[in-house]
Amino acid sequence: MSQQSHRLLMVSNRLPVVVSCVEGRWDISAGSGGLVTALSPVMKQNDGLWIGWPGCGEEAPLNELLSRFRAEEGYRLHPVPLTEEEVERYYWGFSNETLWPLFHDLLGNCNFSLENWQTYRQVNERFARTIAEVCKAGDLLWVHDYQLTLVGAYLRKHGVRQALGYFHHIPFPSLDLFRRLPWNLELIRGLMEYDLLGFQTLRDRRNFIRCAHSLLPDTEVIRRHRHHTTLRHGQRKVRVGHFPISIDFDEFNDAAASKEVDEAAWFLHENIEGRQLLLGVDRLDYTKGIPERLLAFERALAKYPDLMRKISLVQVVVPSRTMVPDYRDLKGQIDQLVGRINAQYSEHGWIPVHYVYRSLDRVQLLAHYRAAEIALVTPLCDGMNLVAKEYCASSVHNNGVLILSEFAGAADTMGENALLVNPYDIEGTADAIRQAFTMPQHERKRRMSVLRADIRRNDVHRWVRRFIETLQRSR
Ligand code: UDP
Repeated sequence: MSQQSHRLLMVSNRLPVVVSCVEGRWDISAGSGGLVTALSPVMKQNDGLWIGWPGCGEEAPLNELLSRFRAEEGYRLHPVPLTEEEVERYYWGFSNETLWPLFHDLLGNCNFSLENWQTYRQVNERFARTIAEVCKAGDLLWVHDYQLTLVGAYLRKHGVRQALGYFHHIPFPSLDLFRRLPWNLELIRGLMEYDLLGFQTLRDRRNFIRCAHSLLPDTEVIRRHRHHTTLRHGQRKVRVGHFPISIDFDEFNDAAASKEVDEAAWFLHENIEGRQLLLGVDRLDYTKGIPERLLAFERALAKYPDLMRKISLVQVVVPSRTMVPDYRDLKGQIDQLVGRINAQYSEHGWIPVHYVYRSLDRVQLLAHYRAAEIALVTPLCDGMNLVAKEYCASSVHNNGVLILSEFAGAADTMGENALLVNPYDIEGTADAIRQAFTMPQHERKRRMSVLRADIRRNDVHRWVRRFIETLQRSR
């Protein structure tokens, strides 16, 4: 969008920065995720302004840090301060204990609390007020994710008429599930105040349209395109599209081929003839299906004795949301399963499960992707799952096999050349492990080269361009 003059306002729960204090010295650095990497150049070119919670307390010299960031990164940040109680109720409470499990089809994990919902509304209103104060005519606004569904509606109340886009990074549930949310009407009405709603998959887009159509009687479909549907809602038109998010393919591909990663990968692999490594890389989250995966691995060892001593599972679990009780319970469950499998099957010189409970630095993460002959990406439900794409982009010799859950958004585009599994089907996943282990080289290469070509073509830069171009046309 470099050729036009609109200013770009990005809005997300967290600002794309890490604020730290080491020995009394405050520092600010850009976040490292794929989204930030993809958006940074676009923000620089378009006089960008990013609005969000800075994630630090009042003691940080924020103004000075934000000015430093602007000088170094070339675009501006604007903070929305939150109190500890607001973070507790809006973020940990309503976002992570209500919307997160509900939208991942896990109703049993939901906590419906009126106080949390009220704080969620207040915080969304505060975001909208802050945006209304800084935005100008002609700005394009792009709001990110489920923590901020109501910002569009509050912006309209503040008289903001600019083009409003919203991207929903997690799944959108079926009508049956969405109706369980006691505040479903206000939430869906709020979403309909955006001009463009982006979802990860066609399933999410259809689920949303079904919910809007059924719950809001003055909503009708007026046009269908391949990538988006136009709805009429009262006097307004709303575009609802699907935009599968991706990664910076070249960055992963180039870094994975570097000498440093090559050497680190060599050290990781126990260099024993015919032994293969399976890899799981997940945040600690009950949506990721980690216990089910361990059960499937255990079943594969019991069912196919030829796998004994020939495969090891490296399971990396990145600590996350450890304040939420469900996450603590999950950690205990994983610890126990790993212990059980290793106690049952370990032999001198062979450990079936290598369990890493921490995050890996970049070189180590890429080395793990490179070293593993098989990746197990088996979430119970996932918006997209970037690990699946990163694994393929790092498979520079085209020799990896991806075992992928049919309930990951990534399955839409990668399903044909991955081995698709239902993560609840322990027997079927155990069989897929064996199939991957015995897959001939030519078949591995054929599947992986198609997967890589598709990610290369549809990378995160294309995703950003497509969303912004559609938003520009939506108003
Ligand atoms: N990741 C990381 N450090 C690690 C392991 C993983 O930063 O030690 C990153 C990984 O590269 C990926 C992200 O965490 O980009 C996980 O994204 P995904 O979409 O798979 O799941 P999410 O955690 O967003 O639900």
